[in-house]
Amino acid sequence: MRACAIWLVFSLTVAPMVLVTTAAMVGVIGGLGVAFVRLYGPLGLLLSASGFAVSYAAAVAVHEMGHVVGGGAVGWRARFVRVGPVTWTRRGDRWRFGWNRRSNWITGKVEAALGPRDPWRLVIFLMAGPAANFVLGAVAGGIVIAPLPFLPRCAAGLLAMTSICLGAWSLVPLRERGEVSDGLNLWRLLAHGTLPLTVKKMAFAPAAPASIRSG
Ligand SMILES: [Zn+2]
Repeated sequence: MRACAIWLVFSLTVAPMVLVTTAAMVGVIGGLGVAFVRLYGPLGLLLSASGFAVSYAAAVAVHEMGHVVGGGAVGWRARFVRVGPVTWTRRGDRWRFGWNRRSNWITGKVEAALGPRDPWRLVIFLMAGPAANFVLGAVAGGIVIAPLPFLPRCAAGLLAMTSICLGAWSLVPLRERGEVSDGLNLWRLLAHGTLPLTVKKMAFAPAAPASIRSG
């Protein structure tokens, strides 16, 4: 019964949001592609493709930053951040930069050491990523209607749509190679009132406390 209610909530909120934002993003990319090819020839295709790649990477980075800030706000210190193949690991007060080409290039992840585990803290930590995407989308959307030249406004439009679309997709309950989306974590939280928390021993932190991971 409870699973049915949760399924209904996701179907009525996340699903339409994903459909609408994905359609809008495809429309924006298609429109920009056509406009750029008309303006610049084949180079226009390269321009729109690379514009999308850069926007997507920026949207993932902002999403993970949202989790870091949201986690920090509820007392959960981030200790690992991944944006595509790029990683940052906290060692004491320092962040160590890394590169793992074998990790999923289109996703990101934040791992935070858990402090107090109230459900509201979980919700803030999980929602901060998608929220950061929606805020970035709104700011970039504002630039689109600002009196600026054509190209910066196109870039802002692409960034706005990519960011909003990523925020919506991250709320879909998904699991990929053992990594869990914010949507799946939220689903588990609604279903069980808590999350299966990870306790991981790490070489550099043998007494590592329980941690939470979200995409
Ligand atoms: Zn996330």
